Amino acid sequence: MAKKKSAKGAKKAGQRWVKSTCPYCGVGCGVEVGVEAGKVVQIRGDKSHPANFGKLCPKPTGLPEALASEDRLTHPLRRNDSGELERVSWDDALEEISDRLEGTLEEHGPEAAAFYISGQLLTEDYYAVNKLAKGFLGTNNVDSNSRLCMSSAVAGYKGAFGTDGPPTAYSDIGHAGCIILWGSNAADCHPITFGRIKQRKRDDQEDTTLSVIVIDPRRTPTAEMADLHLPIKPGTDLALANAMLGVLLDEGLVDRRFIEHHTNGFEETAEVAREWSVERAAEVCGLEAEDIVWAARAFGKAPAALIFWTMGVNQSTVGTLKNRAIINLCLATGNIGKPGAGPFSFTGQPNAMGGREVGGLANLLPGYRTSENPEHRREVEEAWNLAPGSIPEAWGLPATEMFRALDDGDIKFLWVAATNPAASFPDLDRARRALRNAEFVVVQDAYPTETTLLADLVLPAAQWGEKAGAMTNSERRVSLVEKVVEPPGEARADWEIFAGVARALGFERNFAWEDSAAVYDEYKELTRDTPVDVTGLSHERLRRGARQWPVPDVPFREERPSGKLQRREPEEEHPGTHRLYTDKKFNTPDSRARFEPTPHSDLHEPSSEEYPLTLSNGRVKNQWHMMSRTGRSETLMKGLEDGPFVEIHPEAAEEAGIEDGKPTRIVSARGSFKARAVVTEGIEPGTVFAPFHWGDLWTGDGSLNNATHGAACPTSKQPELKGAAVRLEPAKQLETEEGELSTTANK
Ligand code: SF4
Repeated sequence: MAKKKSAKGAKKAGQRWVKSTCPYCGVGCGVEVGVEAGKVVQIRGDKSHPANFGKLCPKPTGLPEALASEDRLTHPLRRNDSGELERVSWDDALEEISDRLEGTLEEHGPEAAAFYISGQLLTEDYYAVNKLAKGFLGTNNVDSNSRLCMSSAVAGYKGAFGTDGPPTAYSDIGHAGCIILWGSNAADCHPITFGRIKQRKRDDQEDTTLSVIVIDPRRTPTAEMADLHLPIKPGTDLALANAMLGVLLDEGLVDRRFIEHHTNGFEETAEVAREWSVERAAEVCGLEAEDIVWAARAFGKAPAALIFWTMGVNQSTVGTLKNRAIINLCLATGNIGKPGAGPFSFTGQPNAMGGREVGGLANLLPGYRTSENPEHRREVEEAWNLAPGSIPEAWGLPATEMFRALDDGDIKFLWVAATNPAASFPDLDRARRALRNAEFVVVQDAYPTETTLLADLVLPAAQWGEKAGAMTNSERRVSLVEKVVEPPGEARADWEIFAGVARALGFERNFAWEDSAAVYDEYKELTRDTPVDVTGLSHERLRRGARQWPVPDVPFREERPSGKLQRREPEEEHPGTHRLYTDKKFNTPDSRARFEPTPHSDLHEPSSEEYPLTLSNGRVKNQWHMMSRTGRSETLMKGLEDGPFVEIHPEAAEEAGIEDGKPTRIVSARGSFKARAVVTEGIEPGTVFAPFHWGDLWTGDGSLNNATHGAACPTSKQPELKGAAVRLEPAKQLETEEGELSTTANK
């Protein structure tokens, strides 16, 4: 009998497969985790998950190597008098934190304590830290690294619709006649959704033609697939959006009926748009006038159109207005609440959406509540058994202001969890100085990072696969991440660590959760009857499938053809909500969506004689953030052996004396960073592009953020990471030695 071939991914003896969710980008792909002898040994796509139907990009396949990395943090470490980090017990670590917190609150007040957290935390982790800080310590100084990637989208949605939240679903790709990808290199950053768009393009039929337009200063792999690529000059998006709205108006492509019945503020918005003729916009944006007209027509004439966007739009001092401009285009054409239509932000991090839902930014409370709203504060105080007035009204410090306050000595206690600001923060020298000189810094992570090296106390955190909890992806779909293996050494789940400190502070009864499912159950009660209602979910329910919120726990009611509302049987659970605003009623006081005029303004730091180029940054396909996890996978590091690189147009290279492949220094008014030059015509001549992945531990030269600045959008407080004025100059030598990963004192 012929020997049967073993199929790829087939079950080996002793191996089990557990469904879970990818821990990287906001696409939120379902994965199946192969576990053998207490270790994660393989990852494959979950064919039943609606975000990816079994497909995966390379990143999660490196997880087994990353989890098994020998340099995981396994015990709490405290800096001793000689500056070395030495092992301490959990009891001592928790006692030290609670003593420090009590001392800080007593001496300097709650505003002197701050928490800088991450879009990679699970919903339960977010909930625990928010409850502790905002409720029980009385400080709203809780902000997340999502401030650096998505806060402009939050402000954009709230301004236009009354509440945050993308109204769309991935399946809308199948119904759209036009898709714009604005400031998004989805091919590298959101590859699975990009694959879906590409497939849709391939499947195009005569009667369902799809136009794809990409707006990006670089000819990225995303732009290569487009019908039209608009290589826009950085910072000129509002001029383009206004000109497009002008074309829609001139050519009668706006949906007057929708505007009249369901929106406010259109005329004021149109007035500003009319100031931008296509010729004027073409001049400012560095584009061809006819291309702007083509884009506007393709968008306006499509029966349904989608606009995807991400950091290229959000990371801007006018980030909120850019979001509003995109939403204006959708509202003007009635592209909302119907198949194939709407504004659709790609979230960068796997659970940035969950953070927004739980209140993980400095003015938010669970269930899309805000601290400014007295009724919202009252509801949360009641749920947490707190006296009225316990939760402060004023905004806490958003991330960039938090680090300024740390640098100025106003923050005395900082707790960083699951993020690495000593490599990823704009105006890096200042952020590192602030961490180095800070009175007391706790850093909670799974690996040694540039930030743990500056900590006074390092706490070992369980990471993906070692703790359970929920995440929400870019289409509002909540999925479960399963605990499949034990964390190494004494590492603990983030929510457990926050709860442990709360108990050490005397709040035992309020933080007595037995497991993360109990944390989720408490959180979901706070979402009841809010726009982000997930009372119909639980860890158990999520094991049966991911769902898009709102998912209330009331029996689902649906309209039958007879017109009568019919109650389903209670055991038939609410299926979740595919698309928001299908009834054209928005979460504003008058139920109408709001237009906003979007006047153009220049970059905060325009190019000059000394710094003639604009630095943009982004990712490469196989890496994630500062590579603390993906960098530990040899497989994923293949092709990156030459270290950091910077792309420059041949004209700009010649001007600056830069040669292809040669060491180059990217210099701004704040600092510099070395990278290998890649001379390419695939970038607009005034822009240079470099990936931001390499930090000090890789280069010994800081990171690209030595050159970026921290000026932020006044509404969203999101910094303009993609707009620093720089020059490039030849560097004498390119040092590519890998930094030592150690716990040596560095503070
Ligand atoms: Fe993970 Fe994003 Fe890749 Fe999907 S597209 S596998 S969520 S990194």
